[in-house]
Order: sequence, then C-alpha cells, then structure tokens
Amino acid sequence: MTRPYRSLFATAASLTIAGRCDLARILTLDIETYPLTVNVFDIWNQNVGINQIRDSGGMLCWAAKFHDERAVRFASLWDGSERSMVREIHGLLEQADVVMGWNSNKFDLRWLNRCFVKNGLSEARPFNRVDLMRQVKKKIYLPSYKLDYVAGWLGVGRKVRTGGFDLWADVMAKDPKAQAKMGRYNRADTRLTEKVFDKLNERGWITLPNASIDGGDCCPNCGSEDIQQRGFAYTTTRKYPRFQCKQCGSWGRGVHCEPGGAKVRAA
Ligand SMILES: [Zn+2]
Repeated sequence: MTRPYRSLFATAASLTIAGRCDLARILTLDIETYPLTVNVFDIWNQNVGINQIRDSGGMLCWAAKFHDERAVRFASLWDGSERSMVREIHGLLEQADVVMGWNSNKFDLRWLNRCFVKNGLSEARPFNRVDLMRQVKKKIYLPSYKLDYVAGWLGVGRKVRTGGFDLWADVMAKDPKAQAKMGRYNRADTRLTEKVFDKLNERGWITLPNASIDGGDCCPNCGSEDIQQRGFAYTTTRKYPRFQCKQCGSWGRGVHCEPGGAKVRAA
C-alpha cells in the first residue's frame, strides 16, 4: 500500500492543498525486452559484428502506473500485437506530465522511442523526466544502485525473483506460465519503483517540476504553503531568502534577491 504523504501529486483523498492536484500526473513505467539473436562460432569472449545479427530483439511487455490510480496497466506481445502494445504506451505518455522510472532516461524511454520509430509513430508529447536511479545516485552514496538493493535498503520491498535467463527463454518459447510470471515481475517492478519514489519524496529527496510556478508562495517540491524562511542563500553577488518546507523538509529559495548586492566581485 502506498504511504500517504502531503503532496500536490498525492491521490485526491490525501490532497490537502486545494486545487493543485492537477498540476502533474506522474506515470511510473518499466519495460521488459527480449534479447538479440546472433550467429556466433563460439561462446567465449565473442565480438559480434552487425552481419551476425539475425534478430535485433524487441520489447516483450511494459507495465505503467499513474500515481493517482491503484491499478498497474500492462500490455505484452502475447496479449496482442506489438503495434497495439506500442500505441497504448504512447497514448499513456501523452497523458503524463512526469514520466518516472528506474534508469528510465537511459533505458526505458529510449527503448520506447525505438519502438515508436519502428511502428511509424512520432515522438510523444514532451513530459518531465524523473529518473529515480539518477536522482538517488546524485544525492546518496550507496554500494549498489540496483532497484532491488535500493528498495531493500529503504525497507519498501524487494524485486520478484525471475530465475534468470530461463524465464526469458520460456517466455520466447510461448510458455503461458512463464508469460504470466514475466507479467507479474514487470508489474511488481513498476510498483516497487513507485514505492521507492514515495519513500524518498515523503522527505523531499526527489526533484520534481516546480509546484510554485502555479502555486505561488509554496514549497516547490510538494506544494505546501507551510514553508519557513531559514536564513539566506548566497550567490557571488546577491543573497536570496532561503526556505524549508515544514511538510516535506525540502529546501528552496526565493527567486527575487534581497535589496542591494555586491558592488565588486572576484575576477
Ligand atoms: Zn514540501
């Protein structure tokens, strides 16, 4: 179950800040792919040339969840055509203001673009990207940045065990049990990613689109007006009022500087 937190991105029920819920719709997603098929003469230390590629691989399935919905949406190659699977996720991206995932900027979103190109689609309507792995890496030192590890470390859960490559082999062999397991694994990853987000965002660790653009004098992270001025933030020539949100704990600063400023600065 998702832990409630005060946020403009929270569900309507937990929304205490009137009228800000529609600012951002967060879509969390995860995709699973199947591997390339190649011709090789040996199995050890192979360098595969492009003329050895027999099949370039593809997307097996995706699982995506809007933060304000309970259900995880899912589509796969075995439930329908590749085209319908790809068009559906394209449609979801177009409804999202923020698209979030684990290593999603480098992997999932570029993979989806590959599928869009192949299926004759244009790029999805632009959205803000929140790659949780990148944000965690940037701010928090940990021995591993795998989703399984970080989620376990935060105490929000662990990944479903896949059993390794055999699962992929069985899915490609069209084994219905393996397909069902892949679906569970994929959906669980999406839920787990959202749990990691909820846990970190509760105390303002995740940078989201600035809620103050529409919200005015409020926390840029969660939209709460319960913010307190705490000293100043200094730049080379000016100082700005600094704020901390009493709800989520994240820090912000005013966009207008205090009157005056340095007359001279270092070269
Ligand atoms: Zn806040």
